[in-house]
Amino acid sequence: MRIFRTPALLRYLFPEYIWRKTISGKNIYLTFDDGPVPEVTEFVLQQLSVYQAKATFFCVGENISRYPEIARNIVEQGHYLANHTYNHLRGWATETNTYVQNIALCQDQIEKYQPKREPSLFRPPYGRIRRKQFNEIKSAYRVIMWDILTYDFDNTLSPEVGLQRILKQTTAGSVVVFHDSVKAFPNLQYLLPRFLRYFAGLGYSFNTL
Ligand SMILES: [Zn+2]
Repeated sequence: MRIFRTPALLRYLFPEYIWRKTISGKNIYLTFDDGPVPEVTEFVLQQLSVYQAKATFFCVGENISRYPEIARNIVEQGHYLANHTYNHLRGWATETNTYVQNIALCQDQIEKYQPKREPSLFRPPYGRIRRKQFNEIKSAYRVIMWDILTYDFDNTLSPEVGLQRILKQTTAGSVVVFHDSVKAFPNLQYLLPRFLRYFAGLGYSFNTL
């Protein structure tokens, strides 16, 4: 079963993570995980610029080091670079020291292009982070989860069906996850322009976290 909207129970169990914004006029918080990736991230930036939308990019550090020009463009266009580990590590399968060091490596890449901000933003790959890992990073990072998962990475889902679900379930304050990855690109090309057009038409703005 695909769960597009994070259940209230999870938000209740993990109140220290950010799932959505509670005080928030007509704002939606778009997030893009796993980039930067040539062509895909560039497509995202182009779409966002049409609606003057600003977004948060949870980047994989090794992709930043591979594609520094794209990272620079993200910042120059007013978006925010956030941390998604250097190697897209799975928290539950990684020893805490290794995990924390991998986050720091990603942050070094980010700060080549963007001034330091405390706390910085971090999203654990797969949404999986152990309590111990969270405790190690919580003074330096705010952990951002999500309210709406678009399933753009799921090529077995019809994009038409997916679109209807995410349009219906997104509300003011929602944190929405897309992926600027090669795998998600076919669905992303369908979903993102339509999502932006729909909510811009309803008077929503799109902002960084
Ligand atoms: Zn990821």
